[in-house]
Amino acid sequence: MAESTAVRQSGRQTRAAAPAFDNSYAHLPDRFFTRSGANTVSAPKLIRINWPLAAELGIDAGWLESREGIAMLAGNGFPAAAEPIALAYAGHQFGNFVPQLGDGRALLVGEIIDTSGKRRDLQLKGSGRTLFSRGGDGRAAVGPVMREYVVSEAMAALGIPTTRTLAAVLTGDTVYRETPLPGAVLTRVAASHIRIGTFQYFAVRQDVEAIRLLADHAIGRHFPDLAKRDQPYLALLEQVIAVQADLVARWMLVGFIHGVMNTDNMTISGETIDYGPCAFMDEYDPAKVFSSIDRQGRYAYANQPGIAVWNLARFAESLLPIIHEDQDEAVRLAEEALKTFQAAYDVAFHRGWRRKLGLFAEQEGDLQLIGDLLKAMAGNRADFTLTFRRLAAEIEGPAGDSGVGRLFADPKEFDEWAVRWRRRLAEESKLPAERRQVMLSTNPKYIPRNHRIEAVIKAAVEDADFRPFEELLDVVVRPFDEQPERSDYALPPREDERVLQTFCGT
Ligand code: AMP
Ligand code: MG
Repeated sequence: MAESTAVRQSGRQTRAAAPAFDNSYAHLPDRFFTRSGANTVSAPKLIRINWPLAAELGIDAGWLESREGIAMLAGNGFPAAAEPIALAYAGHQFGNFVPQLGDGRALLVGEIIDTSGKRRDLQLKGSGRTLFSRGGDGRAAVGPVMREYVVSEAMAALGIPTTRTLAAVLTGDTVYRETPLPGAVLTRVAASHIRIGTFQYFAVRQDVEAIRLLADHAIGRHFPDLAKRDQPYLALLEQVIAVQADLVARWMLVGFIHGVMNTDNMTISGETIDYGPCAFMDEYDPAKVFSSIDRQGRYAYANQPGIAVWNLARFAESLLPIIHEDQDEAVRLAEEALKTFQAAYDVAFHRGWRRKLGLFAEQEGDLQLIGDLLKAMAGNRADFTLTFRRLAAEIEGPAGDSGVGRLFADPKEFDEWAVRWRRRLAEESKLPAERRQVMLSTNPKYIPRNHRIEAVIKAAVEDADFRPFEELLDVVVRPFDEQPERSDYALPPREDERVLQTFCGT
C-alpha cells in the first residue's frame, strides 16, 4: 500500500538534496520553447505524493516534502538546476489545425535520470500562464487533477504505457470555470513531452532544420538503436506507428476511451498522455463517447484505432522533408509505413483478446468467437470489465449467480456463447488453474470507474475531504488483486450514479 503523506510529515530531514536535474530539451534552440519562471500561488498544500514513483525517480523524499520541495510542486519556486520552460507545439484539435498551441498551463521543470537510467520529464500542470496561454488562465481545478492522478496511475498498474503522476497540491487559490473551484497543480512524469504536434509546429513553419533536430532528439531519447539505420527518420516513423498501434490496442482491451485524441495529445514515446475527458466504459458499447465536447463522436471507443492512423499520417507529413530529398519518394515511403499500422494493431489486439479469453494457441474461428461475445455484450448491455473478470469462473462449467450471465439482460445469450467457448478451451490441454491464472492477471477487477471518480471529486470540492480519493487510488493501483474488502469498487454504477459525460480538464 502507498504510504500516506501524513505519515511522512514528521522527522524533517535537514540535509535533503534537490533533484539532480539533467536537462536536454532546454538546450535545444530557443524557438523550441519559452523560458518561464515561477507563478506564485498563495498557499500550497500537499494532497498526495506518489512515494513509490519518487523512489523510482531517485528523488530525495525528505527534500520533496520540505518547504522547497512543495514550492516546486506548486510552481512557486525552483531549485537552481531546474530550467523551467514551456514547450512549443501545434496540433489538430478535432480535425482542425491550430499552428500554435504550446504549454499554456504546463511547465517543464526539468529532466531527471531515474534509478534505472531512464530520462524522465518532470512537468507541472496548472502552474500558471505562459507565453502560450492565449486567453486561458494557465490554471487547473482540483477535479481534473484528481482524475489525471487516479487514471494515469491506474493505467500504469494495468501495464499500459502512460505518463505518471508524482504529486498533486492545492494552490490555495480559486479558479473560475462554470463555478469557482479550488485550484491545484499536478506533477506529471513522462518519457518526454514530444508530441506529433511538436513536429507539426515546425513543419507548418517549413523549419526543416528544427524538424531534423527534433527527430534526432526523439531518436536519441526513445529509440537510440534507430540512429544507426540507413534511413533513421523513416525508421522513426515506423517505430512511432508500432508503439502507437500497440498502445491503442491496449486501451481497447480494457475499455479505455481517451476522449481527446488530438495530434497534440499523442506522444512520440508511445505513452498515453493527457487525461482530460477520458473514461473507462461500464457497459460495452463500441460507439461510446463520454466527452462533452466531442459532439460528433469523433473519438468514440471504436474509432480510436482509425484516429490513431489519421494522427500518424499527420506525423508522416511533418517528417516528409527529412525522409527523402525526392518528395514523391518520401510520400511513397511514408504511405508504405502507414500501412503497417493495421498489422501491428491486429497482432497486439488479437493476442490480447486471446489472453482475455484464456486461449493459449491461435486457431481459426477465434476471432469469430471473440466478435460474437462482444456482439452479445453490446446487445445485452453487459459490463465490459466484469464480463471478462468473471469469465475465469466459467471455465469448468456455468458459474450461476457469481458468473457472467447475470451481467447480461438475457443470460441465455451468454450461456449459449459459453458452450462454444468451453468447447474451444477443450481443444487445448491446459489445466483450468493455469488458464485462470492468465485470465485473472489479464482481466482487471478494478478500473477507475467514472462514478467513483465523480464521487471523489465531489467530496474534495464540496467537503475538502480527500479520503475517498486516497481510497480509490489505493484500490485501482492493484487492479488484478481480489481485495475482497473493496469489492464495491468493482461494481458498475447504479442507475442514479451513472455519469453520462466528462468535461475537458481545463
Ligand atoms: P489540452 O486540452 O490539455 O490538450 O490542451 C489544449 C491546449 O489548450 C494546450 O495548448 C493547452 O496548453 C491549452 N490550455 C488548456 N487549458 C488551458 C488553461 N486553463 N490556460 C491556458 N491554456 C490552456
Ligand atoms: Mg494536451
